[in-house]
Amino acid sequence: MDQPDPFGFVGLTYDDVMLLPAHTDVIPSEADTTSRLTKRIRVFAPLISSAMDTVTESRMAIAMARQGGLGVLHRNLSIDDQAEQVDKVKRSESGMITNPVTTTPDATVAEVDELCGRFRVSGLPVVEGDGKLVGIITNRDMRFVSRFEAATTLVRDVMTPTPLITGPVGISQNEVVALFAQHKIEKLPLVDESGRLKGLITVKDFDKSEQYPNATKDDEGRLRVGAAIGFFGDAWDRAGQLRDAGVDVIVVDTANGDSRGVLEVIARLKGDPAFAHIDVIGGNVATRSGAQALVGAGADAVKVGVGPGSICTTRVVAGVGVPQVTAVYEASLAARTAGVPVIADGGLQYSGDIAKALVAGADTVMLGSLLAGTDESPGDLIFVNGKQFKSYRGMGSLGALQTRGTKTSYSRDRYFQADVPSDEQLIAEGIEGQVPYRGPVGSVVYQLLGGLRQSMFYTGARTVDELKVRGKFVRITAAGLKESHPHDIQMVVEAPNYRR
Ligand code: 5GP
Repeated sequence: MDQPDPFGFVGLTYDDVMLLPAHTDVIPSEADTTSRLTKRIRVFAPLISSAMDTVTESRMAIAMARQGGLGVLHRNLSIDDQAEQVDKVKRSESGMITNPVTTTPDATVAEVDELCGRFRVSGLPVVEGDGKLVGIITNRDMRFVSRFEAATTLVRDVMTPTPLITGPVGISQNEVVALFAQHKIEKLPLVDESGRLKGLITVKDFDKSEQYPNATKDDEGRLRVGAAIGFFGDAWDRAGQLRDAGVDVIVVDTANGDSRGVLEVIARLKGDPAFAHIDVIGGNVATRSGAQALVGAGADAVKVGVGPGSICTTRVVAGVGVPQVTAVYEASLAARTAGVPVIADGGLQYSGDIAKALVAGADTVMLGSLLAGTDESPGDLIFVNGKQFKSYRGMGSLGALQTRGTKTSYSRDRYFQADVPSDEQLIAEGIEGQVPYRGPVGSVVYQLLGGLRQSMFYTGARTVDELKVRGKFVRITAAGLKESHPHDIQMVVEAPNYRR
């Protein structure tokens, strides 16, 4: 044992510590919350949504990236379905859609309708042969085709045919705006010299860029997205398809990242030139040596958290874990010297925990329960005694691990149980439940970031880097924690950023 006195090594978590106030000349609105997600990617909001099937699918990933954070698509679904989710995010808002959904002159209006619904778009370029643009079909062209005629009406009979207003690839934003305004059009197909379709720019995307100035985007102006993979079975195929769909970040997502299979997948991804443009996050670990192992394998960020999650039972089922503030601190000792960012995953209950995580050594935080109750998480609203909830479950809960009917569980290897022959023999490490409904992600992120700005004001930190240097902890007792929460009063109105 390299630790002489195991009982002298105390692990602390968010509720055990407070940040000391310090002299400040920073006002909250001036605080810059930008931070590093991976070695190459920066985010305006250091907030990442968990790769869980009750938290992050394409809607959440789109919302998180628009707000300046990032969503990590869960992996409890088939490879095709997960790759389709990546595709949806990459198409959702962009300067230019490089690979637009198209139709042909001989398709029916009903088929166009179906495509528009599936991809949430209002019209499609019409192409022929080797991609030659022959027209465009939008809602305006289809408005007077009744539902009964849609199945028999051909695109060629209602589309707006070429010559259309088009632009060349590489057209500037100002030229695009001028064309939209001059011709009162909403979609601008981009074509090469021989008239082949090369891309599409829509007015909707321009509006959204103005609406979400801090969005996390790639070099082509498309929203960024992450997606989780495992290390077992078809993990490599999954990584390949996610890459082909345009994923920006691959998260090798397991409950114990310091294991051979996980380290091998990370090293293989980092060593393969076909993945050179994708950043790889490894996890989860909760010790300095665990973080060192991920750094050694080449991870572009280290995800920390064994057992802090609100739905997690690892620490009681296995008796294993490290209280999260200590875990983040220990991991950061290995990651910081290597210039590798740290993600504090799980256990955050209030906005104040974000700054505590950053001061402990994290660069971003990953959130499950705080986002599971939003409009953008998968699943419907549940009404209980007149109050609204949404379901939230651990990826190691029986529900997520079980194979039901035709539904396969793809997340068993997160808990290293891919070899368990039947559902009855599974060992759960999480529970299933519900969390209060919280409205749109935009408002929740606003409150969380607002809380972080207040922390930065109180500690006199203008940037996240300054917060890490200036932030100092004081350890508190149970009495101190009791004093921290509202007390000696019956709460009658819940604040948007405070619930008990
Ligand atoms: P929360 O924000 O709800 O406190 O924690 C979310 C995090 O818990 C996730 O990002 C993930 O790392 C972890 N997690 C998700 N499901 C489970 C589970 O079933 N068991 C364990 N041990 N951790 C889980």
